[in-house]
Amino acid sequence: MRESGHAAPDVAAAISAEMKRRSVEFLSLLDELVSIDSGRDAPEGIAKVQDVIANRLTRLEGVAVERHHQDGVAHLAVVISGGDARVALLGHADTVLARGTAAERPLRVEGHVGYGPGVADMKGGLAMATLICEALVDLGDHPTIELVIVGDEETRVVAPPFMDRLESADACFVLECGRPGGGYIVRRKGGLWARMEAKGRSAHAGVQPDWGTSAIVQLCQTVGIIAELHRVRDDLTVSVGTIAGGSAPNVVAAEAWADVDIRAFRDDDLDWARRRVFDICERASLSVHETGRWPPMGLVDESLSSLYQDAGRGLSVPLHPESTGGMSDGCWTSTAGIPTIDGVGPEGSNDHSPEEYIDLASVPARAGALAGAITATTRNDRSNTERGEKE
Ligand SMILES: [Zn+2]
Repeated sequence: MRESGHAAPDVAAAISAEMKRRSVEFLSLLDELVSIDSGRDAPEGIAKVQDVIANRLTRLEGVAVERHHQDGVAHLAVVISGGDARVALLGHADTVLARGTAAERPLRVEGHVGYGPGVADMKGGLAMATLICEALVDLGDHPTIELVIVGDEETRVVAPPFMDRLESADACFVLECGRPGGGYIVRRKGGLWARMEAKGRSAHAGVQPDWGTSAIVQLCQTVGIIAELHRVRDDLTVSVGTIAGGSAPNVVAAEAWADVDIRAFRDDDLDWARRRVFDICERASLSVHETGRWPPMGLVDESLSSLYQDAGRGLSVPLHPESTGGMSDGCWTSTAGIPTIDGVGPEGSNDHSPEEYIDLASVPARAGALAGAITATTRNDRSNTERGEKE
């Protein structure tokens, strides 16, 4: 079955021990990545994060780097040639944080917990993957590894760059943070966003209030109806996340708009909620249009999931699959038929908040489990028909 000379548990134990030895180096790489602002307002920072990693990995033998720029944003693929099997490690260099956050909140370590902007989402995962790649090359027996680090995961609403590369992978591991207590992600909800716009007629609110028609009133009445779709079906969530309108307190509002966020594990439920939202808007004479859609993470790939669990077993890490309402690029790879598991980075939580953290003590075992699963991945000749059936 496996062509590799090292057994997965041996690799897991070796890499885990190596990460323990290199904990200071891990922390210094993490510190370097966290100190770079890489939000959507800092495209040069996104490229810098990728460069730090590419510069380290190009020192290794058999490494090729590919860069791709789109709309001013950089994307990176580092290919480390090895055995026949192809393993994708998928991450993103961008964060949701504004320029200046890195200086405001530098990496702070308290006991075994590391706090800082983007540590969990996902600079901890990037630092860990970089050290794993180095350690596996040292070990000298690994599949071909493609480390893909995109620059626009937090803002994009279409499939990621390098999809053609990823589609040839036998397994895809997404480097979002692991869940505390050994959780990793096998299911994610898909999401759909729509913008609703109300048009009224402006008038002086004191002199001729009845001559005007308030777009704000019209929109808010509709928002109330849409909010009731929340949890009407199992696992379906509906949230109106933004709202704005009007021009001044003394003017009846001519315009108002709001954005709705719909999430579900099944495309059917997304479609159903979309139809309901569009019907409700039409009846209220509001215009509405879809602004983006992410597919749910598709079928759970049981064999990849157990490969990862088995690799972690020797390390006494109680790895177990979980699901989440948050989306990641794993939704796209899984939908494309690539066996995918997610949440294989260091354990952490509170993404997108000032309390974001990773558990540094989880790094050796998580790195070991991931390295073990990487080396245990075998060539998988999926035909197009099989992929079609899977979807
Ligand atoms: Zn993320």
